[in-house]
Amino acid sequence: NSTLYIVATPIGNSGDISLRALYLLQLADAIACEDTRNTAQLLTRYGLHKPLIAAHQHNERDIAQKIIQRLQAGERIALVSDAGTPAVSDPGAIIVDAVRQAGLRVSPLPGASAAISALSASGLIQDQFYFVGFLPAKAGQRQACLQELTPITASLIFYEAPHRILESVQALLEAFGPKRQIVFARELSKLFEEIHRCPLAEAIDWLKQDTHREKGEYVVIVEGASAVQEDNDFEAKRVLGILLAELS
Ligand code: SAM
Repeated sequence: NSTLYIVATPIGNSGDISLRALYLLQLADAIACEDTRNTAQLLTRYGLHKPLIAAHQHNERDIAQKIIQRLQAGERIALVSDAGTPAVSDPGAIIVDAVRQAGLRVSPLPGASAAISALSASGLIQDQFYFVGFLPAKAGQRQACLQELTPITASLIFYEAPHRILESVQALLEAFGPKRQIVFARELSKLFEEIHRCPLAEAIDWLKQDTHREKGEYVVIVEGASAVQEDNDFEAKRVLGILLAELS
């Protein structure tokens, strides 16, 4: 008792819930969730009924206090998000932090994660990866963020909001040049799942080949900077561009 369970839920295929997740959702006194309608649907699918606590981006601090009180009273609370692993590019981290600081137990139930699923099917042979998550929506901030990522040798994992894939891939091409490999992991575990790998130079063409590809849920992985700088020309031009902009 007195434990906050972080419960991963499916990212597309309802079969991807774990037996332990179902057991714990059944056992919990209440479920804190990002969107009550969404979680109510999820529970109905598995024949479960539980009191729900709405815990979204804007009320996490207040809700954390309420959850702490309930845990101190000996309850078991589960935390879920709309899809995948809570607190990873999803609400939850503030609650987890507060609960831990209150000296209470937090226990994760491993399960679906879009980033790890995409990486596992990418075929990129690199031991290290760097999880970027969502890029800033504004072009200037996005460019600055990408610039900081260019020297990193680990594979770079991005989440992307539906409808912004073309714009983002264009920005990736400008930041990393045409030679690095990009992996598109689209609609993972869903009916129209597609995983495609190509050099960044061919990425826009691939997206435009089928209008469906301009929408949908994507994880995008970009190969890290290679130890041997085969991209010297591109890198030199990029740095020169920055220096010239500073001078003018
Ligand atoms: N916490 C979740 C996780 O563990 O994967 C991620 C939530 S985040 C708000 C949503 C983003 O995850 C989407 O915009 C997309 O980049 C990625 N994503 C989620 N489900 C996906 C799927 N089925 N296929 C590809 N990407 C997915």
